[in-house]
Amino acid sequence: MNWDDFASWSKRIADWGAQYHKTLRDRPVRAQTKPGEIALKLPKNPPQQAEDMSTIMADFDSIVMPGMTHWQHPRFFAYFPANAAPPSMLAEQLVNTVAAQCMLWQTSPAATEVEGVMVDWLRQALGLPEGFTGVIQDSASSATLSAVLTMRERATSYTGNREGIAARSHLRIYCSDQVHSSIDRACWVTGIGQDNLVKIAGTGPRHSMDADALDAAIKADIAEGHTPAGIIAITGGTGVGGSDELGPILAVAKAHDLYTHLDAAWAGSAMICPEFRDAFWQDVDGFDSIVFNPHKWLGAQFDCSIQFLRDATPQLNALKIEPEYLKTTGEAVTNYSEWTIPLGRRFRALKLWFLIRSYGLEGLQTRIRNHVAWAEDLCRAIETLEGFEITTQPILSLFSFRCPGDDAMQQRLVDAINDDGRIYLTQGAFQGRKIIRVQVGQFDTTRDDVMMVHSVVQDIWENVK
Ligand code: PLP
Repeated sequence: MNWDDFASWSKRIADWGAQYHKTLRDRPVRAQTKPGEIALKLPKNPPQQAEDMSTIMADFDSIVMPGMTHWQHPRFFAYFPANAAPPSMLAEQLVNTVAAQCMLWQTSPAATEVEGVMVDWLRQALGLPEGFTGVIQDSASSATLSAVLTMRERATSYTGNREGIAARSHLRIYCSDQVHSSIDRACWVTGIGQDNLVKIAGTGPRHSMDADALDAAIKADIAEGHTPAGIIAITGGTGVGGSDELGPILAVAKAHDLYTHLDAAWAGSAMICPEFRDAFWQDVDGFDSIVFNPHKWLGAQFDCSIQFLRDATPQLNALKIEPEYLKTTGEAVTNYSEWTIPLGRRFRALKLWFLIRSYGLEGLQTRIRNHVAWAEDLCRAIETLEGFEITTQPILSLFSFRCPGDDAMQQRLVDAINDDGRIYLTQGAFQGRKIIRVQVGQFDTTRDDVMMVHSVVQDIWENVK
């Protein structure tokens, strides 16, 4: 392909994109295909001869698109959102086109410097004090893994990377039972092990971990010869939005000199609104590490996860490695690859720059406030359906419900709703029972889209019950 063809196809694909987004409401939200159906339509062997772009694009339309679930659909209420606001998509097009690998300052100074400024803009937007720095990672899972590795290294006086941890007494990590599975996985990957992840039951309206129970678990572990290494708190758990009260957890961490990480992958975006900070983030500035994903609710196209660090030194001590070929000379610069596990880095900060400038913080706050208010309205409407039960009240814009019947009936209703395609919901578990989750957060959703969940659920229920 020459660059004139590239320009022509870029324009055609941009037009295709605008049309796609303008007609999204007419498509079923979740892909309506069966496993293996798409693969069957692809040739088994790679082509020996070049094919032209018209043929490739036609196949994309006819083979690939029917197998896509539409995450930007305004009636996507499943999982958590992965919003891609149009300005952030444009930034990604530029990043894809320049195609730089931004591992060191000198491999693209602008990428490093825009990243530093964007992390600081978001630090201010989230009300974190000056002094917090940070880094953009691909995902919250990576940020949490970095934090758990830092906990491990700090607890072993930074000898674990060299000596391994096999000879150590068990290192222990503490969290509530509302955390995301990325915390479990971080414990697997760091060699700490699932059995050394201690989960404290979440209680009360926000399903938060009890600080006294946490303290007691740590003391019992010390008495048994284990080595506590860190505490992970949550704001906005994946299941039902479980959120810890931060101050008492930090007090326990301080008493035992433990490193602390806060997973706010989803709910962190809402903290650009001061009223939600007051409600959820009292004392947040005591955490050593905080992760939130602008690629979830804020509108920065996937992938974009920010890890804020009160002091970057412990994480750098755990992760920095500098072979000769990566050494940079001259003035002191920031090389963000030293802060993370992967070496190679995309220029993720550009989409934040485009996004925040295009909407302003006020535009983004309005969306989030609307989502929270509409989730409350929808919850009240679902509550009126005969025999339906609200299993967890809205935490920000996430709530859950059950229809009459057993767990199998909940799944039947979810499957029937998603086969229908007008909306997309997913199931979860809470206190040993299956629940149906609803989160409101898609960037283009309207109150009408949200309230449609009530009528679709009512409609489908009539056929399922
Ligand atoms: N933490 C929470 C609370 C989540 O809900 C999720 C994913 O939904 C994650 C972490 C993992 O996020 P990522 O996909 O960025 O690794």
